[in-house]
Amino acid sequence: MKTILNFVTNYKGFVFGKVRQGSQGIAVEIHPRKNSKAVCSECGKPCPTYDTFQTPRRFEFVPLWNIPVFFLYKMRRVTCPEHGVIVERVPWGDGKCTQTIEQRQFLANWARRLSWSEVAECFHTTFGKVFRAVKWIVEYGLEHRNLDGVESIGIDEVQIRKGHKYATLVYQIDDGNKRLLGVEADRTEESLENFFKDFDEGTKGEDKRSLKIKWVCSDMWKAYLNVVGKVCSNALNILDRFHVKGHLTEAVNDVRKMDVAKLKKEGREPVLTKSKYIFLKNPENLTDDQADKMSELLGYNLRVVRAYLMKEDFERFWEYKTAYWAGRFLDAWCVRAMRSKMEPMKKFVKMVRKHRELLMNWFRSKGLSSGVVEGFNNRVKLTARKAYGFRSLESLKIALFHALGKLPEPKNTHRFW
Ligand SMILES: [Zn+2]
Repeated sequence: MKTILNFVTNYKGFVFGKVRQGSQGIAVEIHPRKNSKAVCSECGKPCPTYDTFQTPRRFEFVPLWNIPVFFLYKMRRVTCPEHGVIVERVPWGDGKCTQTIEQRQFLANWARRLSWSEVAECFHTTFGKVFRAVKWIVEYGLEHRNLDGVESIGIDEVQIRKGHKYATLVYQIDDGNKRLLGVEADRTEESLENFFKDFDEGTKGEDKRSLKIKWVCSDMWKAYLNVVGKVCSNALNILDRFHVKGHLTEAVNDVRKMDVAKLKKEGREPVLTKSKYIFLKNPENLTDDQADKMSELLGYNLRVVRAYLMKEDFERFWEYKTAYWAGRFLDAWCVRAMRSKMEPMKKFVKMVRKHRELLMNWFRSKGLSSGVVEGFNNRVKLTARKAYGFRSLESLKIALFHALGKLPEPKNTHRFW
């Protein structure tokens, strides 16, 4: 046991002592190496020992062959010229936490592959301990991450709970470096301003990180556009294809609802029953049954059918090679949509016309893949669903950073997972 522990750890100034096996697992004593000095937990300087606790403290280590392993160590207090009488620092843990750094890292890394409760179950620990392990590693990562060199960001809002609870998420979407950069409560100007406050920390004047951003991909949400215009003054703001499509899909769905109500009012055959997802899906994703239903519906003279066809037609906009021809297509499309006399479609056109410039920026940013934000959006929703039961935004934030933040981790002698 000692040989293995010496192989996987490197605790300078300490040696492993007696190893006992009890009902709770394997207990390993740790002692200070002879003539080694304890270290102040505040400043890390070696100091004379003041006294030693008589009851050993218990630290959980990584289980071996499914047997729990824990360390027993009698903590010392030191007399630090600067910090007075203070408890020592030990290399396998910190403060009052009973989990070793190795165990926290071990649990946290499994928590990327399994749900947190599965991790607790597999490794004979509690959900709370898995949570604290993840929290610790996320905090370490946020403290040590490097935010320099971010050139493209994507901003997205995600509904985190039913009843309009939103969070603002910011991603780095550069080629070769895509990661979650920030999670802020709500989707107000303040949310985004809070993000940039953190993001710019440690930089000032012309060296501000927000001024080095060249591309911002976002929705037409006014609060975001305002802040981006103010803070990222060197960036080109692009409307994300994914968000534009989202608005258009919503318009088609609103037309569908109007049609359903109209058919019902006129006492006609309810042909639109169970059609919602048919109109929301991309045609290539329809099942055989849905495709049959769709071709049947296309035969009816319904407003939703016309709206749907317009939505499909709009896809061509993104295929243009030049902004000029895309712009001509867009304007012609908008005229047709306005003539359609469908309120939701007209509402969409008004939005597009208002932000035409930002929409056209998409063609200047060729190469900046807009699928990235959409991909993150899906993964965020998945993580939020897996983290179901989290009461606070704070815990969701930890889960999201853990899954998508690409955060640095403490270096180890041995990789336990
Ligand atoms: Zn000190």
